[in-house]
Amino acid sequence: MNTKGSLFRGLFSNAVFVLILISIVPMFVIGYHLMDVNSRVLKNEISQKQQTVASRLAAAVRFNITHNTQYFSVFVDLHTDFGGHNFINAADLKYLRRSNPSVLYLAALNTEGKLLLSSGKRAESVNWPQEIKSVLQACVKEQKPYYLGGVYPSKDGLFMLMAFPIRQHLNDRRVSGVLVAETGLAELGRTLLQVYPMDMNAVIATQEGQVISYNGAPGGLAAEPQPEMTDRVLEIKKLLGSSSSKEIKLSSGEKILVAEADLPISGWRVYVDQPADVTVQLLKESTFHSLWDVTVIVLMMLLFVGVVSYWVIKPITRPLERLRRAAVKQRENGDYVVRPEDLDIPNNEIGELAQAFVDMSGALHTRRQELIGAQTELAQMNQALEKRVEERTHELKAATRELVKSERLAAIGQMASIISHEIRNPLAVISNATRLIKMLVRTPDAKLLKQFGIIEAEIKQANSIISEVLGYARTRDLILSTIDLNSYLREILLSYPFIPGITLKDELDPESVRIKVDAEEIKQAIRNIVSNAVEAMNGGGTLTVGTKVGRRVVCIYIADTGPGISEEVRHKMFAPFFTTKARGTGLGLAVVGKAIGRHKGKLFIQSEVGKGTCFQIYLKIYKKPGDTSYGEAS
Ligand code: ADP
Ligand code: MG
Repeated sequence: MNTKGSLFRGLFSNAVFVLILISIVPMFVIGYHLMDVNSRVLKNEISQKQQTVASRLAAAVRFNITHNTQYFSVFVDLHTDFGGHNFINAADLKYLRRSNPSVLYLAALNTEGKLLLSSGKRAESVNWPQEIKSVLQACVKEQKPYYLGGVYPSKDGLFMLMAFPIRQHLNDRRVSGVLVAETGLAELGRTLLQVYPMDMNAVIATQEGQVISYNGAPGGLAAEPQPEMTDRVLEIKKLLGSSSSKEIKLSSGEKILVAEADLPISGWRVYVDQPADVTVQLLKESTFHSLWDVTVIVLMMLLFVGVVSYWVIKPITRPLERLRRAAVKQRENGDYVVRPEDLDIPNNEIGELAQAFVDMSGALHTRRQELIGAQTELAQMNQALEKRVEERTHELKAATRELVKSERLAAIGQMASIISHEIRNPLAVISNATRLIKMLVRTPDAKLLKQFGIIEAEIKQANSIISEVLGYARTRDLILSTIDLNSYLREILLSYPFIPGITLKDELDPESVRIKVDAEEIKQAIRNIVSNAVEAMNGGGTLTVGTKVGRRVVCIYIADTGPGISEEVRHKMFAPFFTTKARGTGLGLAVVGKAIGRHKGKLFIQSEVGKGTCFQIYLKIYKKPGDTSYGEAS
C-alpha cells in the first residue's frame, strides 16, 4: 500500500544520493590529486631537508677537521717564525701534545721521511711506510698546506693521520721537514652526535666506504669496522651516480630517499637517508590530523545536500503526490472526476501534466457516461428484441397450431362429407319405403302411425345433420349478389319453422341497406344462430332480430332470452363438433364463423348467464361504384 510520503521519500532519497555522488566524487578525485601533489611536494621537501642535513653534517666535519688543521698549521708557522732552529724541538712537541688532548702522537720527519723527533706512542694499526710515502708526496713534492691520511682504530677510539709541511722561514718555498700527527676524532664524534637528526639515517664514510661515523654510533664514531654499512654505502654511492639526492631501491628491496654531501677537504662523503614510505607516513599523519576537519566538511556538505534536496524535491513531489492520490481515487471510484482544485498546478511542466490529467479525467468521465448510456440503450433494445422474438414465436406457434387444426379439420370435413353423401341416399330410400308402407297399410292404428311419425322425424333429424356437415365441409367459391338487407332477413325469418312458445320481436332498422354477399351462405349462418337461440330458450322465450345501420357497416343482431353462455363454453363453441347438446352436431357456430370470416365481417357475442345471449354480425354496407364513402365488400 502506498503511504503518504512514499513518493517523496523515493524521489528524495534518489536526489540526495545523486547529489551526494555529484559532490563527493569530484571531492575524492581532487582530494586524491591533492594527496598526490602533496606527496610529491613532501618528497621534494624531504629531499631538501636531507640535503640540508647532509650539508650541515659535512660542515660540522669540515669545521672539526679545519679546526685541527689550522691548529697544527698555526703551531708549525709559529715555530717557523721563531726560526733559528734547524727544526722543532722535543719540548715543543711535548707541549703541543699536552695542550691538546686529542693529539695522540706527534712526529717530526725530514724530507726523506726519517723520524727526527716524536711524542707519544704511535698506533700500530697505521700502515706507516705507506702513509709516510703519501705524506712526503703531498707535503714535500706537491707542497700542499696539509695532508689528511687514513682513519684508524686505537684503544682510545678512532683517530686520523694528518701531516703538515715545516719551513725554515715563513716565506720559504722549500720544505725542510714534515709534522705528522695522529689526532683522535672523539671531538668530531661529540659534535656529530649533536648534529645528527633524530628521524634519518646518516652515515659518514670514506671514498672506499669505510664508515667513520653514523647516526646512533656510541660516542658518534664507528669504533668497529661496519662491513654491512660499508656495503650499503657503496651500493648507495653507485645508485646515486652523479645526483646528490634520489629515491633509490636497494638490492635488499628497501626503498629509500637518500641525499649525499661531499667533503672535498677529506674526500669523505655524508649520506642521509630515510625509508621512501616516510612520505606516506607523513601524509597519513597530516591526513589523520585533519580528519576532524574532513569529517566536519563532509557533514556540512551532507547537511547542505539534504537541505537543497528538500527544497528542490518538495515542489516537485507535492503536486505529484496530489496527482497520484487523485489517480488512485479515480481508479477506485469510476464516477470521480478530478477537478483543478484537487491538484497543485504549478506554472511548470508538472503543472502542465496536472492540467492534462484534469482534462483527461473529464474526457474519461464523458466517455464513461456515453458508454453507460449506450449500454442502457443496448439493454433496452435487447429487451425489445427479445419481446419481439417472443411475440413472433408466439404468432408462429399459433399459426402452426392453426395450420395443423385447419389441416385436420379439412381432413375431417372431407371424410364427413363423404360419409354424409353415402348416408343421404339410403336415407332417401328409407324415406320413400316408409311412405310406400304408409300408403299400403289401409287402416293404420294409432300405434303404427306413431311409429311412422318417429321414423319420419328421425330421418328428418339425420338429414339436417347431414346438411350441417355438408354445409361445413363445402368449400365452394362465394357467389356474390347484392341484396336488400331488411327483405332478405324477413324472408329468412318467415321461412323458419318457429314453435309456438317463441315470440319473435322485429327491431329491423327502417332504413334498409344493401349488402353484397353470398346469399345462401349468410342465410345458413343466420339460420344456425336463430336455431341455437330457439334451442337455448327451450320452448319458451323472445327472439329479437334487429339491425343498426352505421356509416359504413351494418350490424345484424339476434338476441334470445335463454340461459346465456358460460365463459368456458364461449371459448370452445366455435370449434367444429363442439356441442353441449345430447343430439347436437357442434357444427352450427363453426359454419357461422367460417361464413362471416369469408365475408370479412365481424362477429361479437354479448351474453349474461341467466339473462340471454346476443349475437352481432357486422357487414359492410354496399354502395354503388363511384360512391367514394363506402368500400366494396368482396
Ligand atoms: P349445436 O347446436 O349442435 O350444439 P352449435 O355449434 O350450433 O352446435 O353450438 C355450439 C354450442 O354453443 C351449443 O351446444 C350451445 O351450448 C352453445 N350455444 C350456441 N348458441 C347458444 C345460445 N344462443 N344460448 C346458449 N348457448 C348457445
Ligand atoms: Mg346449433
